[in-house]
Amino acid sequence: MQITAAVMEKADGALTRRTIKLEEVELEGPREDEVLVRIHSCGVCGTDRGCIHGLEPFPTPGVLGHEGAGIVEEVGSRVTGVRPGDRVMIGFPYCGRCRWCRGGNPRYCEQGKELMFGGFRLDGSTPMKRAGGEPLAGRFFQQSSWATHAIALERQLAKVPDGLDLDQAGPYGCSISTGAGAVLNELRPRPGSSIAIFGAGNVGLAAVMAARLTGATTIIAIDRVPERLALARELGATHTLEHGAATVAELKELTKGALDYSIEATDGSNLVAEAVAALGILGVCAMVGGAKMTASVKVNHPDVLLNGKRIIGVLGGGGHTPDFLVSLMELQRDGRFPLDKLIRFYDFADVNQAIDDSDSGRTVKPVLRMAV
Ligand SMILES: [Zn+2]
Ligand SMILES: [Zn+2]
Repeated sequence: MQITAAVMEKADGALTRRTIKLEEVELEGPREDEVLVRIHSCGVCGTDRGCIHGLEPFPTPGVLGHEGAGIVEEVGSRVTGVRPGDRVMIGFPYCGRCRWCRGGNPRYCEQGKELMFGGFRLDGSTPMKRAGGEPLAGRFFQQSSWATHAIALERQLAKVPDGLDLDQAGPYGCSISTGAGAVLNELRPRPGSSIAIFGAGNVGLAAVMAARLTGATTIIAIDRVPERLALARELGATHTLEHGAATVAELKELTKGALDYSIEATDGSNLVAEAVAALGILGVCAMVGGAKMTASVKVNHPDVLLNGKRIIGVLGGGGHTPDFLVSLMELQRDGRFPLDKLIRFYDFADVNQAIDDSDSGRTVKPVLRMAV
């Protein structure tokens, strides 16, 4: 079938303009374990921008977009969990067979990197081609949903609960579950505890909203942008700090040296050293934000050892299955997770504007609406 997709001709490098243009392309029907989804909307995430700016790998020409939500239009012969007409969001891809998938940690699927960034199915094929026949990398996160239609694996779908606007659902697939999962799946703050969140973009603000659902009594958001800090307070932060040279000292003063948890959720600023230094005894730092592939982290050895500090990586909100995404969507529907305050909608044709506004920090969570 013919669809419209936002094709990236090549990764543009850190500072140049984009080469993303809407194009009519051919999409094959679903294979036996796949589903064709008519995309209603799709978020713009830091990982899309990382690929555009050449920081993270993705083959071109190709189609980005990995926070798609829409309506099931057609299912493969072995699909049993969804049917045409179902409202779904497309979560992260995983193989379902490896040791980590079978152990309940599909976020850490041993083929996850290939499934997310390879651009093709694991067998090297793609369902998407240009009108002239040129194959497109049409399997970004096994969905490539900056398009009017996408082919996804059945197992990566989560049904959108009745009562939740479909256009709110896409971001749960990546950025929002990343921030919320770090808090709810991994750190699990104790009642009366303190948590500091570095970076108040869509991931950090999702962590703030999640912390607000726990017994943590001190929730501190740190960012350079005052408007984002104001939003963090609205979403449940008890304190906010404008990031600067004194941030670690300010955190120690605020928590009397007993910060229990920290989350590094910046978009490549790599503040892990500060997030660890600010912790108190037995504090835990979760590394959540993306970074350059060559980035490393330097912390003070005795500080970590003598204080029993822990540093953990948390990919995409931890190892849990799409069921977790459904839980978050139910919380939003019930008025307990106000994601709508982060979102600004853009017409699909304005994809480059949405990317620019995300780069500049003007929009926390751009969501593209596909004209159907
Ligand atoms: Zn796996
Ligand atoms: Zn993402």
